[in-house]
Formats: sequence, structure tokens, C-alpha cells
Amino acid sequence: MLEDSAIKKNQCRRCGTCCAKGGPALHLADREAVDSGKIPLKCLFTIRQGEPAYDNIRRAIAPAATDIIKIKAAADNDATCIFLDQERVGCGIYEARPVECRVLTCWDTRAIMAMYDQARLTRADLLARLPGLNDLVAEHQERCGYQQVALWAERIRQGQDAEQAVETLLHAIRYDQSLRQVSVARAHLDAGLLEFLFGRPLSVTIRMFRLKLAKKGEQVTIVPVL
Ligand code: SF4
Repeated sequence: MLEDSAIKKNQCRRCGTCCAKGGPALHLADREAVDSGKIPLKCLFTIRQGEPAYDNIRRAIAPAATDIIKIKAAADNDATCIFLDQERVGCGIYEARPVECRVLTCWDTRAIMAMYDQARLTRADLLARLPGLNDLVAEHQERCGYQQVALWAERIRQGQDAEQAVETLLHAIRYDQSLRQVSVARAHLDAGLLEFLFGRPLSVTIRMFRLKLAKKGEQVTIVPVL
């Protein structure tokens, strides 16, 4: 039996430290909370399949094996979960908090490590009841999928058919940008949904492939990050 001091030590003090390190990823067990609107779609973003992401188990950056749907951060320069009330140090969705938050105990991470990459929720799960959006996401995935982005990036970095690879990747970046603009301006989609539907902009994530946009005279091109 644990001593009193050990029990106190192994209790959540609700200090908010784990919430300040970033929002959780969602699993199938969280689907009801999203479907019911307790966790709104606009509070989520997607790390798309194949996107380089930090893998907590391998402790390295690796392509995501599936979509990873996560709760957004408070700000670009603040990884804190958007639902943390930083003044009162409380969870804004405590009763509907995701399964990772329920399982995480900072003094023993074995339970969360065991379920970390299991039964992840995907965009297809959440969009099954919204077929129009599902089709849009599928088309975006076909034209901007990270498997092909990785191949183009490799060719650009290695200088193999680099010119053609730059053109093809620029085309995908332009399509990605224009789809986001059109979805908001013409289809009146809530701009807060864009990073859930299409992930982070390709113009930003090419950095993960050690590439960046650059000017070549009046033209935009893509160059390796040295
Ligand atoms: S959902 Fe709640 S418990 Fe989970 S990280 Fe965010 S603020 Fe913390």
C-alpha cells in the first residue's frame, strides 16, 4: 500500500504543465465529443498522413502513419492547448476532455505511451456525415499528398529533374492556397476549419522537407534550405 506522501506525490495537482506543452491528439474514443460539438471542429488541426511530425515513441521526426487530429494551440508562439483557461488553470472542456488527457499522469507515462498511436481519429471518420467536405478533402489529398511532396522534395534537394519537380510542387502549393481562399470567399466556409480540413498550408510545411519559397527575379521558386 502506498504511503500518504507517495499518494500525494502521485496525484494530479492540476498545475496545467501538461496542457501547456500542447493539445492532445484525438482517438476514436473522442469521436462522440466532436460529433456532439463539445469539441468544435474549428478547434482542431490535422497533421496529414505522411507529414513529418515528432513521434513520441520513436523520439524522432517521422512521417505520420495516419492523419493525426490535434487540438489547436493558443497562439502561433504558444503551444498551450486552446482549451486551457490560463488564469484559473482549468480545462474549458473538462467533462468532454479527450482520452489522452484522461489517461495522462505525468508521474507515470506508460498508459499514454501504450495508446498514443492506437485507434487514431481521422478526418474521414469525422467527415463521414459531411460528404461534400469529404470529397473536397480527398481531392486536396490527391493533389497535395505528402507522399508525392516527399518525392518532389527529394528530387529538388538532389538536383534530379529539379526544375520539373519545382514546377510541380509550386503548382500544388498554388492549388492548396487557392482552395483555402475559394472555400472561405465563395463557399463561405468558416476560416477556422481550414487547418482541420486541409492541414497546415503547404507553403509552410515544405520547411519540414528542408525547402523554402524564394524569389528568382520576378518569379517565385523553391530552393533547398542549407
Ligand atoms: S483538453 Fe483540457 S485537459 Fe486536455 S490538454 Fe487541453 S486544457 Fe488540458
